[in-house]
Amino acid sequence: MSIMPVVQNVIRADVRALSAYHVPDASGLVKLDAMENPYMLPPELQQALAERLSALALNRYPVPGYTALKAAIRERMGIPAGYDVVLGNGSDELISIVSVACAKPGAKVLAPVPGFVMYAMSAQFAGLEFVGVPLKADLTLDLDAMLDAVRTHRPAITYLAYPNNPTGNLFDLDAMLAIIREVGDSGIVIVDEAYQPFAGTSFMPLLPRHPNVVVMRTVSKLGLAGIRLGYLSASAELLAEFDKVRPPYNINVLTEATAGFVLEHADVLDVQAADIRAEREKLSAALAAIPGLHVFPSAANFLLVRVTRGGLGSADLFARLLERKVLVKNVGKMHPLLENCLRVTVSTPAENVLFLTALQSSLTT
Ligand SMILES: *Cc1c(COP(=O)(O)O)cnc(C)c1O
Repeated sequence: MSIMPVVQNVIRADVRALSAYHVPDASGLVKLDAMENPYMLPPELQQALAERLSALALNRYPVPGYTALKAAIRERMGIPAGYDVVLGNGSDELISIVSVACAKPGAKVLAPVPGFVMYAMSAQFAGLEFVGVPLKADLTLDLDAMLDAVRTHRPAITYLAYPNNPTGNLFDLDAMLAIIREVGDSGIVIVDEAYQPFAGTSFMPLLPRHPNVVVMRTVSKLGLAGIRLGYLSASAELLAEFDKVRPPYNINVLTEATAGFVLEHADVLDVQAADIRAEREKLSAALAAIPGLHVFPSAANFLLVRVTRGGLGSADLFARLLERKVLVKNVGKMHPLLENCLRVTVSTPAENVLFLTALQSSLTT
C-alpha cells in the first residue's frame, strides 16, 4: 500500500509543497559555505573539556533553570544589568519559540529581504504571514519602505539582523531606531546578532531603553556551531512569556557543560574572532583587486561577492570552485538583489589562500 494517501490526508499542504532544507556534503572540501569558525579548541582545553564532560550525569535530565550557564552568559556577553536571557537549541529554536508565542490569528512577521531564511520559515510553520521588504540596490535598509510596511501591516515581529545575512553589512543604527519607534508597543523588534563577535558593535547596551526590542545571539558563528546554543535578552515580562513556550529541557547537559566550560576560557574565542576579523580585511582587499568581481562591505565572518564579468554567472563560478574542492554558497538565485552573488566564509589564512588560488584559476579558464 502506498503511503501517499495518509501523507496527503494528514500533512499540511504548505509543508508538502516545501523542499527540504538542503545541506551539501562537504567531505574532502574546503568548507566555506556555512560561516563556521575554522578553529577548534587548543588541545589542552579539549582535554580538560573531555574530563569535565566525562563526569556528567547523563542519566539525569538537565535542571531546566540553567542558572549557572545563564549567569555566565550574562556576565561574559555584555547583558545589561538587571536583564536575563532565555536559552535556545540554537537561535533557530529561539526564532521558532518567539514565532509560536506571537502567533495570534492574523499576526504578521516583517523583515528586510534578502535576509535569514528561518524568519520566513518559522513564521510559516507557526501560521504567521511573512512580509519581506526589499533592501535597496546597495543592500542598505530602505527606511521609507520599512516604515510604510510597519504602518500597513502592524507586524507582531520585525527582524533586523545586525549584521545581516547573507549581505554581511550592518544596517544604519538611526534607521533601525526609527523602525523600532514606529513599531512602538504594537510589536516586538528582534535584533539578531548572530555575527556580533565580528561586528565590533552591538545593540545590547541600548536594550534597556527599548522595551519592545529583543536581542538574539548564538554561539554558532563564534566557534561552537556543533553544540547548538542561542540566547536572547529582553524585558523580564517578555522573557517570562517566551520561557513558557520553550521546551523545558531544550539545552542538553553536554551543551550546557561545554558552553559553561568555554565561557570560562572566552579569551580563546576572542582571539579567534580577532584573527577572523583581520583575515576578513585581507581577503576583502584581495577580492577587490580581482577584475570581474565586486566585494560588498562586511561586518561579519563572511563576504558577499558579485561576479560582474559578462558571460560568467555565480552558478558557473560556484561549479568551478567545487571542481577545485572549494565549497562556497551560491546565493545568486535567492533574491533578485543577489543576482550573480556568492557568499564565502572567512577562514584560516591557509584556507583563504586556497580559496583565492582556486578563484583565480576559476576566473582564467
Ligand atoms: C546562522 C544564523 C542564525 C542561526 O544560528 P544558530 O544558533 O546556529 O541556529 C541566526 N541568525 C542569523 C542571521 C544567522 O546567520
